[in-house]
Amino acid sequence: MVAKGDMLYAWTKDQELAKRAECGGAVTGLLKFMLEKNLVDGVFGVKKGQDIYDAVPVFVTDPKEVKELAGSLHCGTLLLSKLVKKYLDEANNMRIAMPVKGCDMMGLYELAKRKQVNLDNVVMIGVNCGGSVSPVTARKMIQEKFGVDPDIVHKEEIDKGQFIIEYEGGHKGISMDELEEQGYGRRANCRRCKLKIPRQADLACGNWGVIGDKAGKATFVEVCSEKGANILTQATEAGAIETMPAPEKGIEIRKKTENAMFKLADKWRQKDFGSLGSGNQRLSKIMSETSRCIKCYACIENCPICYCVECSTKKPYLVNPGEVPPSFMFHLIRFTHVADSCINCGQCQELCAMDIPNALFMHALQVDLEEMFGYKPGVDMTLPVLALVEEPKERERLAATGSDQIFDIFKK
Ligand code: FAD
Ligand code: SF4
Ligand code: SF4
Ligand code: SF4
Ligand code: SF4
Repeated sequence: MVAKGDMLYAWTKDQELAKRAECGGAVTGLLKFMLEKNLVDGVFGVKKGQDIYDAVPVFVTDPKEVKELAGSLHCGTLLLSKLVKKYLDEANNMRIAMPVKGCDMMGLYELAKRKQVNLDNVVMIGVNCGGSVSPVTARKMIQEKFGVDPDIVHKEEIDKGQFIIEYEGGHKGISMDELEEQGYGRRANCRRCKLKIPRQADLACGNWGVIGDKAGKATFVEVCSEKGANILTQATEAGAIETMPAPEKGIEIRKKTENAMFKLADKWRQKDFGSLGSGNQRLSKIMSETSRCIKCYACIENCPICYCVECSTKKPYLVNPGEVPPSFMFHLIRFTHVADSCINCGQCQELCAMDIPNALFMHALQVDLEEMFGYKPGVDMTLPVLALVEEPKERERLAATGSDQIFDIFKK
C-alpha cells in the first residue's frame, strides 16, 4: 500500500512502454492504467510530431494509443494548462489525467482558482523539470555549437548537466552551463524557474536520485497527495507498475540536485532582473522594448492568467483600436492584471511575434510583489491579493476618503 509522502522508484511492467519511455515508463504506465481501468475518461499529454523539435499536445481516449506519449521532449515549450480550458471544456464534463511540468501545474492552479478549470476532475502526474529549450534555439545550437545538421538528430536528452544529441552515426554532449553562457541552452524563464519538483501535483516523477542498476530504468516518485497514493496503490496491486523504496542515498542526491538548481536559478534571476535596472531606468527599458509591439495578442491568448471574455486591452477608451504599436496602456493593463499571479511559464515571450521579453518584465514584477504581499502563485488554491478586495466596498472607501491606496504597503 502506497501512502502520501512515500519516496519510491517505479517502472512499468509493460516492455513496449518501457522501451519507448524516458526512464522506465512509470508515467506512461500509470496513464495507461488509469484509462484502462476507467479511472479517467482521457489522457492529455504530449507526443513527438514531425521531429524532436515538434511537441504536439494530444488527448487520448484509447489506452492503446497512450504509448505514443512516452518520452520527454525537452524542446517542448508548450503549456498544457490553458488548453484544458480552451479545448477540453475546462475539465467540467470529463476526468482527465495529465503529465505536468511545474509550469503546467501552476497554470492549472491559477486557472482553477479563477473557476476556469475544474481540478476535481484532473489527476496531475508531475514531471520534474530542469528546463526546456526553444525549438528555434535548439536548431541553431545544434548547427552552430554541435556542428550537426539539426534535421538528422533523432533524440535529445539533458543528463548530468549536459545537452546530449543522438544522430545517425554518433552522439555528442555539451555542458549546459557552457551553452548558456554563450546564449544557447534553456529558455530564459526556465533558467529562472524554481519549480523543479512539482510537489503540488498528485505525484512528482523524475530521474534525479535514481542510482545503481535502476539508473535510467526507473523513475523516482514522490507521492504528493492521497489521490496520487491511491492511483499508485491500485496500479501496483494490478501489476501494471512495480516499485521499490528509494534508497537514502538516492533521496539525498535528489535533494542536493534540486538545491543546486535553486542556486542556479537565483543566479539567473540576479542577472536577468539586474539587467533591467530599477525605477525609471526599468520603466524606460520596458517602454522601449514594448514599443515594437504589433498587438498580435499572442501574449494574452496564451497566458494562463488571462481568461477574460471582454479583455480591457480591447476597450476603445483604454487602447485606441487599429493603432500599432499600441500605446503603453496596452502593456500596463497586462502588468496590473497579471503581475501578481504570473507563473513565469514564458509563453508570452516564446510566442511574441516581436521577440519582446514579456515574461522577464512580468516575472520581475511578480517577484517584487511576492516580496511585498507574500502571495506565491501556482502552488495552491490561495487567491491573489487583489481578489480579496471587494469592489463595492473599495468604491465606498474611495468616495469617503478620497484615497485610492488599496494597501498601505508602508504599514509595519
Ligand atoms: P515517460 O513514461 O516517458 O512519460 C513521459 C511523459 O511526459 C509523457 O506522458 C509525455 O506526454 C510527457 N511529456 C513529454 N514532454 C513533455 C513536455 N515538454 N511537456 C509536458 N509533458 C511532456 N526529471 C528530472 O529528474 N530532472 C530534470 O531536470 C528533468 N527535466 C525534464 C524536462 C522536461 C522538459 C521534461 C518533459 C521532463 C523532465 N524530467 C526531469 C522528467 C523525466 O525526463 C521523465 O519524464 C520522468 O523521469 C518520468 O519518466 P518516465 O519514463 O516515467 O516517463
Ligand atoms: Fe520547466 Fe519551469 Fe521551464 Fe516550465 S518554466 S518548462 S517547469 S523549467
Ligand atoms: Fe506566463 Fe507570461 Fe502569463 Fe507570466 S505573463 S503567466 S510568463 S504567459
Ligand atoms: Fe483579462 Fe486583463 Fe488579461 Fe485582458 S489583459 S484577458 S482584461 S487579465
Ligand atoms: Fe505585442 Fe508581443 Fe503581445 Fe503580440 S505577443 S501583443 S507583439 S507584446
